[in-house]
Amino acid sequence: MPLQMTAIPCLRDNYAYLLHDPATGRTGVVDVPDVAPIHDALDAAGHRLSDIFITHHHDDHIGGVMRLQEDTGAAIWGARADAHRLPPLDHALGEGDTVRLGSQEGVVIDVPGHTIGHIAFHFPESGLAFTADSLMALGCGRLFEGTPAQMWDSLCKLMALPDETLICSGHDYSQGNAGFALHVDPGNAALQARVTQMQADRAANRPMAVVPLALEKATNPFLRAGQDYLKQAHDRVGVSDAEMFACLRGMKDTF
Ligand code: ZN
Ligand code: FE
Repeated sequence: MPLQMTAIPCLRDNYAYLLHDPATGRTGVVDVPDVAPIHDALDAAGHRLSDIFITHHHDDHIGGVMRLQEDTGAAIWGARADAHRLPPLDHALGEGDTVRLGSQEGVVIDVPGHTIGHIAFHFPESGLAFTADSLMALGCGRLFEGTPAQMWDSLCKLMALPDETLICSGHDYSQGNAGFALHVDPGNAALQARVTQMQADRAANRPMAVVPLALEKATNPFLRAGQDYLKQAHDRVGVSDAEMFACLRGMKDTF
């Protein structure tokens, strides 16, 4: 039985994700930007929190972890590499490690770039991947700590997941990301269609931080750094895919 996932808007444009395993009743949350919205979602569903999964050390992802842990006694899972700057971990994780939420297993993917020690969680049976500020809807996280080559490597690992995987990211930056994507890849018909759909979604207040991987691969310019037509359009014929990614990320930083 797959996990039930609920996206919880927090702070200005963050998302936390509630995960419920119907087989066992165990309930987890991915990232804790804020405490109150998560308590509200737990109360509304009548679930008790058992596990907290942390993607990376930034305050807008862990700011509420300690209070939520005190309130619920939930176990905390996070990257071993960042243990010195995360709340005390019950389970320290690295690349390829598994996490467990009731009957469901998740796999840890090391995705450095935005920060060193950023991890993603992939729950294959549920077709869900929690990527926070690595791969984001129509974009990717800013490189605060890692190199472009590290982030490109991280994105390539995520691109290798099954196409139907739902990518659940840490923010909704879709409006700004859409403008940049159209700027660098104006002839992409799938991108044009997506941006049109996004306008309808935004008008209807539908969350836009959860997107199938196949759609990201077709429209997210950072996942298309390996496409020859993009290199050609930006005078980068013959550069490596990682170099093309670095070029696009640099353009976005000053867009
Ligand atoms: Zn961050
Ligand atoms: Fe963030």
